[in-house]
Formats: sequence, C-alpha cells, structure tokens
Amino acid sequence: MPLRIDVLTLFPRMLDGFLAESILGKGISKGLLDVQVRDLREWCTDKNRTADDRPFGGGPGMVMKPEPAIAAVEAVQTTGCRRIYLTPDGTPFNDSLARELATESHLVLLSGHYEGIDQRIRDSVIDQEISIGDYVLTNGTLPAAVIIDALARFIPGVLGDEKSLTHESFTGKLLDFPQYTRPAEFRGMSVPDVLLQGNHGKIEKWRTAQSVEKTRQVRPDLFKKHLHESDHQ
Ligand code: SAM
Repeated sequence: MPLRIDVLTLFPRMLDGFLAESILGKGISKGLLDVQVRDLREWCTDKNRTADDRPFGGGPGMVMKPEPAIAAVEAVQTTGCRRIYLTPDGTPFNDSLARELATESHLVLLSGHYEGIDQRIRDSVIDQEISIGDYVLTNGTLPAAVIIDALARFIPGVLGDEKSLTHESFTGKLLDFPQYTRPAEFRGMSVPDVLLQGNHGKIEKWRTAQSVEKTRQVRPDLFKKHLHESDHQ
C-alpha cells in the first residue's frame, strides 16, 4: 500500500505544480505515494464559507475556526494515522523526522493561516506539531510541501538512485562535499585534480576533508557533535 497523505489547506492550488513535477510527480504517478489535497472550505458550512474569526481576548488578525478544521480532519483520518499541524511553534523538522514519517501508512497534514488556529483543534485532532524552521510563513501549505518532499525521498523507489540517500548532507552528520561535472575547465575555473585522477581512496579522503571543513565553517553546532562522536568511536 502506498503512503497516503491528506493535506488540508485553504489554498489547495498552491500544490498543483509541486505535486506534478520532477521526482515527486514521478513517485506519485508510479503509485509509490498517494497525496490528496483537500480545500478546508469544503467543511465551512455557513453561506459565506467562513474559515476564520476574531481572537477572543483581542489582538491583531484572525484565527481559524475550530468547526471546519476539526470536521475536515475527522472526515479524512483513519485508524492509526498520524495527524500533524504545521506551525512555527512545533517540533523542528529534520532528516530523522523525515525518515520516520516515511514509514507511516497515513499522514494528515493540517495547514494553518492568519494568526494560527483555535487551540481546541490542536487539543482534539492533532497528534504532532511540526515547524519547518525559525521563521514565519503566511500559511502552512508550503511547510506541508516541504515535509512531503523530504519524506518522499525515503520511500523505496522514489529516487532513481537510492545511493543518493547515503551521500547527502545530514545522513553522515556532516554537510555535503562540493560536486563537479563536465567540463573540467570553465571560465578559468578548474575541477580539483584529485577528482580527475580516478583514485577512489584519495577521492573519498578529499571529500571527507571538504565535508568536515564546510561543516566547521557553516554549522559549528554540527561540527562539535561530529568531534564529540569521533572521540567516542
Ligand atoms: N501566530 C503564529 C505564531 O506566531 O506561531 C503564526 C501563524 S502563521 C502567520 C500562519 C500559519 O502558517 C500557521 O498556522 C502555520 O500553519 C503556518 N506556518 C508559518 N510558519 C511556519 C513554520 N515555520 N513551520 C510550519 N508552519 C508554519
């Protein structure tokens, strides 16, 4: 059975191109995952299809009402599915969470809008809250797309070459090394000699050194972890 993902959003069309293109589009057409995007307004029952209202207690902006979102989650959920709300105050998303989500059989991804959603939605129909980073977007549809894209890579058959998974940033806890392709010389910039000589031992050593240096410069937090783990091996 393919992994089923239901995305509940006020902006379903934002995902049209995303789901049709590239590696993800192929994965979906091969039947490796089944993504259904549902418009939350389907569950707005009043004549104006109102999804939001002013916050109790005052304050700026609008808050998503509980009735449509709760009805939507209840309409698509299945026994044992994981119901996730995308929110900046959630657990930070990362590589290992992407791997974990790829092993589920059914995910429901709820996207918020405006100032966020009524707390009772979180309290009654949400199992997990996930943030894709320490910044605020206008709605949760792109965060849902980010999560789908990242987890899809871990579904067997989605990537053309599964070896890509073992050679990426974060898998070995270091950032990726620089990549080059033809031509060997371009506008006076040459590909490092070591990559042209075909000595795989030397190439591996060079790549590791590059990864370590890049991590040290760009992500001192990961570099410290790497040093700590190397000391304990
Ligand atoms: N008032 C909220 C706060 O300060 O946490 C921000 C609401 S934001 C303007 C509107 C919606 O965008 C949220 O309900 C959420 O679904 C989504 N969103 C924005 N930034 C996000 C992030 N970094 N990760 C996940 N979802 C995000």
